[in-house]
Amino acid sequence: MTGGSRTPRSAGSCLCGAVRFELTAPLRPAVACHCAQCRKTSGHHAVFTAVPLEALVLTEQQGLRWFRSSEQAERGFCGACGSNLFWKRDGSGRLSVAAGNLEQPTGTRLAGHIFTAYKGDYYGLEDGLPSFPEDDGGKLDGDSGTRQA
Ligand SMILES: [Zn+2]
Ligand SMILES: [Zn+2]
Repeated sequence: MTGGSRTPRSAGSCLCGAVRFELTAPLRPAVACHCAQCRKTSGHHAVFTAVPLEALVLTEQQGLRWFRSSEQAERGFCGACGSNLFWKRDGSGRLSVAAGNLEQPTGTRLAGHIFTAYKGDYYGLEDGLPSFPEDDGGKLDGDSGTRQA
């Protein structure tokens, strides 16, 4: 995960600063995932954008920890402050990046909701954006390889 000398397009960090990163590629539209894993790791639902894996440049990673959340994916978080940072499917060339950690303006925008069949029962989805009970099959951005599992 080295970015060479490419110019960062966006940057982000965890709450405490023990993980800081830059992203050297345009961000995919953000997608809100309401699956139980995203609910539990974020405390609500999680919103992820995504970039090619090689677009991630870690400028501080002393806090970065990875948790194997399923047989096919891992979640990156800060071991010091607990920020929910990354999601990566094994073997994928894409990295999902939790949008809330990005510096503003983020350059991305919420496109819709996925795995709404598993959403918390205490909130509604009234923003009018497309929503899918399971995976969206790539309909939100033409890229189905980066979804939560
Ligand atoms: Zn932290
Ligand atoms: Zn999810």
